Amino acid sequence: MAVLVTGGAGYIGSHTVAELLEKNEEVIVVDNLEKGHKDAVLGGKLIVGDLRDKEFIKNVFYKNDIEAVIHFAAYIEVGESVSNPLKYYNNNVAVSLNLLDAMREAKVNKIVFSSTAATYGEPENIPILETDRTMPTNPYGETKLAVEKALKWSDTAYGIKHVILRYFNASGAHISGKIGEDHNPESHLIPLIIQAALGKRDSIKIFGNDYNTPDGTCVRDYIHVSDLAQAHYLALQKLRRGEDSAIYNLGNGKGFSVREVVDVVRKVTGKNINAVDAPRRPGDPAILVASSEKIKKELNWQPKLNDLETIVATAWEWHSKHPNGYDDK
Ligand code: UDP
Repeated sequence: MAVLVTGGAGYIGSHTVAELLEKNEEVIVVDNLEKGHKDAVLGGKLIVGDLRDKEFIKNVFYKNDIEAVIHFAAYIEVGESVSNPLKYYNNNVAVSLNLLDAMREAKVNKIVFSSTAATYGEPENIPILETDRTMPTNPYGETKLAVEKALKWSDTAYGIKHVILRYFNASGAHISGKIGEDHNPESHLIPLIIQAALGKRDSIKIFGNDYNTPDGTCVRDYIHVSDLAQAHYLALQKLRRGEDSAIYNLGNGKGFSVREVVDVVRKVTGKNINAVDAPRRPGDPAILVASSEKIKKELNWQPKLNDLETIVATAWEWHSKHPNGYDDK
């Protein structure tokens, strides 16, 4: 039986597919390739199609023997979600409802869901615990939280068990150098700084210098994408053991300011990077740092690439070899 990975041609999805393949799992990727890259899918079967098409996704379940789902497919840009919220509700929420409905019909009862620290909004406590209040400050986080709630009620009503993984800042690239981060447009901090290091942009903007943080710039918890991928496999194993649904944070428990990240990239790449102060980006909380004690304790999750210099070095390795990203554009 196969594990269905939606959005498996995207950044975190493709690294999770790589992890599943290393574990000899049978993998089916569904991706519309609007944002994903077929070259990022290192194996398994790739079905190109759009989850907004209900008949399409029902057919995927009808034609394949699917045991469990790992659901990544979504739009992910905070800024865009603020300016175009309906695009986010339409894709992120509607697509997930189609998927759950197809799972219910096909009697597939295990799902790992790709969620986000953005569900918390401005945190009550640092580090953030899974039991803390969820009050998103942007539509991206709202859409992920809406799906979390649909999952909760789908468990109660249909017995579809879930593991929700709330990622903090996914970063870095696979140590094989075969896959990495390639968003279009790129909106994430580390790849943007690396583009500046590669001379592909003149400078990097620092969004806000008057936050209530030590150097005035936002503080985030950066986690290596392969450590995230490992957590998806552990979550799948938990569901296979027939355990209850659960929510886990995934971060390293250590925060870095935007300026500190720029400095780490300067150090790793040895390049001059011009960073200029710019206005705040709407919807950005000042500090997001995770407590990941729960997943460490319950699923024995052990991050292996948890040092920011190492994370940046893996990203630099991929980007310097693929300065234009994947070739399949
Ligand atoms: N950021 C920035 N300049 C950029 C892109 C991002 O200052 O060009 C900041 C952003 O405001 C946030 C942090 O870097 O505080 C991480 O942003 P990213 O978009 O990478 O991830 P997010 O925290 O939104 O998930």
